[in-house]
Formats: sequence, C-alpha cells, structure tokens
Amino acid sequence: MTENIYGLFASEIGENFVRIGVEKFRASQVADWMYKRGVYDFNQMSNLSAGLRTKLRGNFSIDFPEEQTAKQSADGKTLKSLLRFDDGEAVETVLMRQPYGNSVCVSSQVGCAMGCKFCASTLAGLERNLTGGEMLAQVQHAQKKLPEGQRVSSVVIMGGGEPLANLDEVLRFMRLCHEPSILDMGYRSFTVSTCGLVPGIRRLQEAGLPVTLSISLHAPNDEIRSRLMPINRKYPMAELMGAAYEYALVTKRRVTYEYAMINNVNDSPEHARELANLLRGKLAAVNLIPLNPVPESGLERSTPERIERFEEMLKVRRITVTVRREMGADIDAACGQLRNSHQKGGF
Ligand code: SAH
Repeated sequence: MTENIYGLFASEIGENFVRIGVEKFRASQVADWMYKRGVYDFNQMSNLSAGLRTKLRGNFSIDFPEEQTAKQSADGKTLKSLLRFDDGEAVETVLMRQPYGNSVCVSSQVGCAMGCKFCASTLAGLERNLTGGEMLAQVQHAQKKLPEGQRVSSVVIMGGGEPLANLDEVLRFMRLCHEPSILDMGYRSFTVSTCGLVPGIRRLQEAGLPVTLSISLHAPNDEIRSRLMPINRKYPMAELMGAAYEYALVTKRRVTYEYAMINNVNDSPEHARELANLLRGKLAAVNLIPLNPVPESGLERSTPERIERFEEMLKVRRITVTVRREMGADIDAACGQLRNSHQKGGF
C-alpha cells in the first residue's frame, strides 16, 4: 500500500521521505511540482533522478481527483465540476468568475447529515468527510481552469456538506491554502458557511483565523426554522444568534446570513419585519437567495415581487441586504443537484 502525499505540508512530506531514507529537501521539490505546477506523477518530476522517482513511486502516491463531468453556464461565468476520488465518491465544486475576482465553492463532505428540507446535498445522507487535501484539490482544480495569470481569489465553503461537522479538516484545508509554498492565500479570502452547529462556531472562533462566518438562517423564527432545518431543534435561534454575534464581536468581521426565499413559507412582509428586528444594530448582512427548487422537497421559489418587497422592507429598516445574483442556475448549480443527477444516471 502506498501512502498518499497530496494534501500534506512540505514538512510532513519531508518526514515521510526521511523514513525511507530520502533527503528531506526533496520534499519541497515534490511539493513544488504538486502544488505550484499541478504535476501529480513522480515520473514527470524532471529534477529528480530516475532512481529516486522509482523509489518514491514504490512508496507514495499522489491522489488527485478526476473530473468526472463538468458543465458551464450559458454565460460562461460559472463552471461546475463533479470530481471523483479514488474510492469512487464524488463531490461538486463550482468556479464562479466575477468582475471582482474568481471564487470557488468547495464541498466539505460527501453528502450531508443535516437534513435541511430544501437542500439536495442531504437527500441521501452523509457518506463521509473530506480531508483537507481533498478540499485543496477542489481549489487547485478550479485554478487550472483559469486563464494564465489569473488566480482563485476567494473560497466559500458552501458546497456539499456541513463544514463545522468536519472542522479539523476544514481548518487544515484553510491552512494548506494559506501556506506560501502551496497557494499563499490570505485567511480573509475564506468564508465558512454553517447551518448552525453552535459548538463548531465557538471552536472556529477559538481557532483565531480571520475567516468570514456565514449563517444559513432561512427563517425569522424558531417555528419556521425548525420545520426547515432539523438542527434548529438542537440549537435554537437564541443560541445560534448569540454565538454568531459573539463571533462578529471578537473577530470584528461582519457575519453574513443566508436566507433562501421560499414561496409562502418564509417570505411574507411579517417575516421581513421579524428578521429586521433580529438583526437590527448588529454587524450583519443578509444574502437573499431565490430558492433553487429541489423537486423532492415540494418547496417553491418566491416570486420576484415577493423577493423585491422583502428586500425593500429590510433596506428601509437599515439592514444590509443583497439578492444573490443567480449564477449557473442552468447547470444544476443548486447545491448537490449535479451529484444527484449523476448518481441517478441523469446529466
Ligand atoms: N452546510 C453548510 C454549507 C453548505 S449549504 C450550510 O448550511 O451553510 C450552502 C448554502 O446553500 C446554505 O446557505 C444552504 O442553506 C443553501 N442552500 C441549500 N440548498 C439550497 C437550495 N435548494 N436553494 C437555495 N439555497 C440552498
């Protein structure tokens, strides 16, 4: 059995090399090939001798996922890929090219255990956690799709899975991206999105990385939220909002609140008032997302009029609000839909 070294820091690769009698400095050469040049085959590493390449091949592997399928939106700005790992599991990753930069939406788990009613990623439950390296591979895969000279400038951990249910690997992932010899990205370029795992929010805060926290709120009160999101029965809104406010205060970073607009469920003027009261005076911004309907859920997208009215009511109450521009709705960009359609043999 060879050991995978993709997703290890150069120092860790060095430790592995020393164990089999290879000089430590070779690790930074190999890391450079993998992380800077995107080469995942020891045979192509031309500054290593043939003997050394053979030795490395005998002991180590470089596991990089394969692109199983990819879809581009009609406007060319969104590219959604299904990446398959060696064990056959696949996750979605989305590259979004915007005027202000290139953003990647990364999956943190295969499937999801959270059971949110509107979400396609959770329909079949949780398969397994992803490793930090498997998340890094998603960013590197996106990076390779960009034209020469362009870089991935931000990462949102909003793909399949619940990042705070896999926090150790998510932290490792962000540290890998931050490492100068890997992607050299600033922590401020990261957003971690959660359905509301309160202990995880506290742990993220304690980790002390200046990353943005995003809360998937989707409801202005416990009654509606518990119906849409089972996690709310464990950590009700008072606790969740308390942890989120504290995160904002300690990190001095604005927390964003995701709010999927679901027709006649959470989108009335009364709901807008309730939401405004909840967030008034807080370091907060609301992102309204017209629901991407998942057929299995029976939930529908709010009408444009209801979305506009809701937005207006928040604005009047001085809540920072944006309606998320829909990117890639034509390519099953709604969470988990590409993976699901592929599993069903669709696409
Ligand atoms: N588990 C994390 C991250 C993944 S979900 C979380 O809950 O935040 C990423 C975002 O997409 C969340 O805000 C989620 O609620 C939202 N989302 C999921 N399914 C959706 C759908 N069908 N339409 C619109 N937004 C959806």
